[in-house]
Amino acid sequence: MDGRLSTWGWGYEERFPDRETRTLFGQQLRLITGFEISDIREPMILEGAQIPPSRIEAPAALAAISSTDPRERATRAMGRAYRDIVRGFHGDYGSAPDLVVSPTEEEHVRIALDWASENDCAVVPYGGGTSVVGGVELEDRDAFRGVMCLDLRAMDRLIELDPLSRAARIGAGATGPRIEAQLRSHSATLRFFPQSFEFATLGGWIATRAGGHFATLHTHIDDLVESVRMLTPRGVFESRRLPASGAGPSPDRLVLGSEGVLGVISEAWVRVRPRPVFRASASVRFVEWLDAVTATRAVVQSGLYPSNCRLLDKREAMLNRVAADGSNVLLLGFESADHPVEWQMERALAIASDFGGQCPDGPQYRSSPARESAGPDVRDGLAERWRQAFLDAPYLVNSMVSLGVIADTFETACTWDRFEALHAAVIRSTRDAMKRVAGKGMISCRFTHVYPDGPAPYFTFLAPAKRGSELSQWAEIKAAASEAIASNGGTITHHHAVGRMHRAHAQKQRPELFGEVLRAAKQTLDPRGILNPGALLSLG
Ligand SMILES: Cc1cc2nc3c(=O)[nH]c(=O)nc-3n(C[C@H](O)[C@H](O)[C@H](O)COP(=O)(O)OP(=O)(O)OC[C@H]3O[C@@H](n4cnc5c(N)ncnc54)[C@H](O)[C@@H]3O)c2cc1C
Repeated sequence: MDGRLSTWGWGYEERFPDRETRTLFGQQLRLITGFEISDIREPMILEGAQIPPSRIEAPAALAAISSTDPRERATRAMGRAYRDIVRGFHGDYGSAPDLVVSPTEEEHVRIALDWASENDCAVVPYGGGTSVVGGVELEDRDAFRGVMCLDLRAMDRLIELDPLSRAARIGAGATGPRIEAQLRSHSATLRFFPQSFEFATLGGWIATRAGGHFATLHTHIDDLVESVRMLTPRGVFESRRLPASGAGPSPDRLVLGSEGVLGVISEAWVRVRPRPVFRASASVRFVEWLDAVTATRAVVQSGLYPSNCRLLDKREAMLNRVAADGSNVLLLGFESADHPVEWQMERALAIASDFGGQCPDGPQYRSSPARESAGPDVRDGLAERWRQAFLDAPYLVNSMVSLGVIADTFETACTWDRFEALHAAVIRSTRDAMKRVAGKGMISCRFTHVYPDGPAPYFTFLAPAKRGSELSQWAEIKAAASEAIASNGGTITHHHAVGRMHRAHAQKQRPELFGEVLRAAKQTLDPRGILNPGALLSLG
């Protein structure tokens, strides 16, 4: 679908439902959550919004690919976390960049970096703008004479394909659909389907170490990157194409997760594969959450490595229209372009049944070329309902903000030995905080990715907002959740990245000396400190 991007919310403007549809949605939400929902509000139109005037003009060499148009700047003022959508809804675009530059080739990026270095201008590398951690907005734009948003989306081509090695060289600005559309004519796929697939870019995935389609094994983009090319104020940083290397610390690893603070990723070689032909999916129901957790652990420790292994607790299953009977549901999937996957599914179901898992509809098997759309490949029955809900969910947040519902997600990973305590503490602390600030709330959990040594739990919370205080309510809930994660041995993020929102916790989590090493790397590659200041590393 093409259309005009919303300046304030997720996705296309046209997909923001009319008032009547939102009213109906509010009624459904009330039934599920018990929240009083009657006050439906409309987003502030851009003409009434606060957008600071632009302070800089593009250099002549970039004038043709630059814009100071308020709409263009407002659209890129922040990411798409709940708190960003609330600010945009209320017309607060105070963090808008002064200038949007849209390079179509590396030379433009080089000119932009040189010019910005000489003119005390901060540069924010920008992909889809889907950051949920404050990755694309400066905390203090006045610390620089100007802020340039470097929007990479025009650098989106499939540049080269190596069918023998199954690798593709792709421009960093390519979005998920653009990558898949270009690979399709070569019968290849990246099979990297984060929920933000529609808008997020390859460069953004690499810069944030995004998590995608595969629930086990190749969970992060890291596993699919063969080499990467990054432009820095000091020159080109490019790693060699290699399937693996033991030659000291990996240069790729420095770029993965660098969040725009070390350079601008211009392209990467990524590992592609044939489209799957043989697929199996199943939905396994459990009465008890802890049985479901144990079964999931047993499956992921069995060596089967399902492509899909997402466990939804009963609330998550209900919110996602997968089960209304209070079951916890494990969605299982296997896929291969080469061989049937029946026996893997049968073995996984046998393991799950040892812990009380029931699969009333039985497994579904298909052998046909994969369908060409986004999202985890589970299209039968309950699993398909979950897939559709997964793709629709981001759009629902726009409506929830209009209905006065706080709606956000956060995620972590921990070892299995710590999971039970972490889960209990996170649920307790988040519920307590919601009770304090909103009187009530609802929290659910699912595993987005699982490893032999631990799960990546992903939590969703909903609470009634007090109009005008949404941001402080949200901040208190988020702080309580983050603290519970940190004090129970979890990581502050499994795949959402650090940005500015998780910086303090990330700083505590990593070895102090590693922080110094990162700073030294920044000083070497970006001596004037113009690249995405304040993301990942604190200023000063
Ligand atoms: C509804 C929703 C669902 C999401 N689902 C997932 C999910 O399933 N899995 C997941 O991992 N994340 C998810 N996210 C988070 C987000 O989509 C990821 O962090 C994504 O990788 C960001 O990509 P982007 O292209 O939008 O980057 P942006 O948001 O534009 O930028 C993110 C960071 O990367 C830097 N950056 C971007 N491009 C470049 C570049 N070319 N060179 C250097 N730095 C760059 C930016 O400076 C910034 O620090 C979701 C977000 C939303 C709003």
